[in-house]
Amino acid sequence: MDINGQTAQEVLQNVFGYDQFRHNQAAIVEQVINGGDALVLMPTGGGKSLCYQIPALVRPGTAVVVSPLIALMQDQVVALQELGIQAAFLNSSLSINEMNAVEFQLEAGEIDLLYVAPERLLSPRMLSLLDRLTISLFAIDEAHCVSQWGHDFRPEYQQLRILHERFPRIPRIALTATADKRTRGEIIEQLNLQQAEVYLNSFDRNNIFYSIAEARQARQQLWQFIESQHANDAGIVYCLSRKKVEATADWLQQQGRTALPYHAGLSAELRAHTQQRFLREEGVIIVATIAFGMGIDKPDVRFVAHLNLPKNIEAYYQETGRAGRDGLPANAWMAYGLQDVITLRQFMQDSDAPEMVKRVEHHKLEAMLGLCELITCRRHALLAYFDEDAPQKCGQCDNCVNPPEQFDATEIAQKALSCVFRTGQRFGVNYLIDVLLGNEDERIKHNQHDQISTFAIGSELNATQWRGIFRQLVATGYLDIDINRYGALRLTEKCRALLHGKQTLHLRKQQQKQAAAKTGKKK
Ligand code: ADP
Ligand code: ZN
Repeated sequence: MDINGQTAQEVLQNVFGYDQFRHNQAAIVEQVINGGDALVLMPTGGGKSLCYQIPALVRPGTAVVVSPLIALMQDQVVALQELGIQAAFLNSSLSINEMNAVEFQLEAGEIDLLYVAPERLLSPRMLSLLDRLTISLFAIDEAHCVSQWGHDFRPEYQQLRILHERFPRIPRIALTATADKRTRGEIIEQLNLQQAEVYLNSFDRNNIFYSIAEARQARQQLWQFIESQHANDAGIVYCLSRKKVEATADWLQQQGRTALPYHAGLSAELRAHTQQRFLREEGVIIVATIAFGMGIDKPDVRFVAHLNLPKNIEAYYQETGRAGRDGLPANAWMAYGLQDVITLRQFMQDSDAPEMVKRVEHHKLEAMLGLCELITCRRHALLAYFDEDAPQKCGQCDNCVNPPEQFDATEIAQKALSCVFRTGQRFGVNYLIDVLLGNEDERIKHNQHDQISTFAIGSELNATQWRGIFRQLVATGYLDIDINRYGALRLTEKCRALLHGKQTLHLRKQQQKQAAAKTGKKK
C-alpha cells in the first residue's frame, strides 16, 4: 500500500478509519516513528496494536511483531490485509512452501508487518534473513511473558534481548496489559529497555462493575445474576475444572441459554468452532477454563463471571477485562468459597516450580483472597495492586453500592481458632464445623473430640455461617491451609493476640439470604 509521506494522523484516518488517537497512542506512535524505544502498559482493549502498526507503516521497511499467540496471528494478519496492508506471519502452522513464499516477499521488500512466534524469530535462519532486510521496528507483544513470576511465562521471551544486541539501531516497542511494578521492572531488565520511554495508562476499566460474593449455591447465584441482568447478553463464565465447565454449560443450556463449553480437552476444531459462534452469534455464553480468552477481541461481552477463584489478581483483572471492551456497562461477577483456595494451593504445591516461585504464587493468591474479603471499594484495591492511586470510593462496585455490615467477631473467631487448636490442627473445615455444632459424627467420637471443650460451643451460627467465618479467618491470615494434610487448617502466629484476648476482630457480616449481591444494572 502506498502511504508514502503520510503522517501518523493521516494513516490513522486513511488506513484505519479512526478520527483520533486514544489515550496516549499519539505520543507512543511519535516516539517509535522517531526511532525511540517504548514500553507500553495499557489495559486490554486499550488499543495497543495501533501503537506499532502505524509506525510500521510510516517508517520504511518491515516491522517485525513478536507474538506468543499463534492462533491470533492469522486473525490479525487477515484483518490488516482487509485494510489493504501488506502483512504476513511466520509460524509452525505454515507449510514449507507457504513459508518460502513469505520469505520471498520479505526479501522483495513487500511486507510492512511480519508477525512471528518468538522461537521462530530466534532461529539462526530467521535472524540471518532479518540481517538482509530493512527493518522498521520490533514490536514485542504480550511482553509480560518474559516474567518468570507471571502466569504466561515463556522462556524464549527472555532471549529476545538479543534483538537489541544484534540490531541496536532499530526501535523496539514492548507492549503488555499486565503492569504491576515487579513485572514492569522485569520487562525493562530482561529486554534491555532501560532507554525506553515508559507509557503507563490508567488500568481503570470504569465501565466494569465489580462484585464478589461467597458461594453458597453458586449455580443458583450465577443464574440469578445472568437472568436478572443479562437475559440476552453474551458473556463468559470461568470455572477451574473441565468437569465443572461441562456441567455448568449443560445446566445453563437447560435454563434455555446457548452455553458452550470450552477447555483444552476439546478438539482444536470444536474449540475454533465454538469461538466463531461466540464472535458471530448473539447472546452466546462461553463456559470455559482459563484456556479461553487470550486475544479474543469481542467488544460486546457484557459479563464475565467466575465460579471459582482466579489464582491471582493479574489473572482476575485480565479475565474480567474481557468484559465491556466497547466501553459500555459490563459486569465482573464472582462467587467463590474456601474450597477454591484449598484447590489452588494444592495445584501450586504440586507444581514443579522452584520453591521461590511457589512462595510468590502463594502471596499472590493471598492478595486475591484479600480482594475478595475486602469490605471497602474493590476498584480502589484493584488499582492499588497495580500501583495506581484511585478515589477511596468508586460507586461502581458491590462494596461501594452496598457497604457490607461488620460485626465484632472476636468471640466467634476465638471459638473457631480454639477448635482448630484443640483438635490438633489436623482437620479441614467441615470436620471443625461438625465439632463446633456438636454433631455426633463417628469420626468425632472415634477421635474423642466430643470430649473437648470446644465441642458444641458454636450453635449460635449455622454451618454456612461458620464456613464464612473460617474463610474470612484464612483470608485475613489467622488460619493457614496445610496442603500436606489435605487442606487441614492451622493457626498462624497472628492468632496469638486474638486468642489471648489482646485484640478484637471485625468481620464481614454474612448475608442472610443467598446471592444477595447486587450488581450493576444495565443502563
Ligand atoms: P489491545 O491490544 O490493547 O487489547 P486493540 O489494539 O486490539 O487492543 O484495540 C482494541 C479495539 O480498539 C480494537 O477494536 C481497535 O480497532 C480499537 N481502537 C484502537 N485504537 C483506536 C482509536 N484510536 N480509535 C478508535 N478505535 C480504536
Ligand atoms: Zn467501589
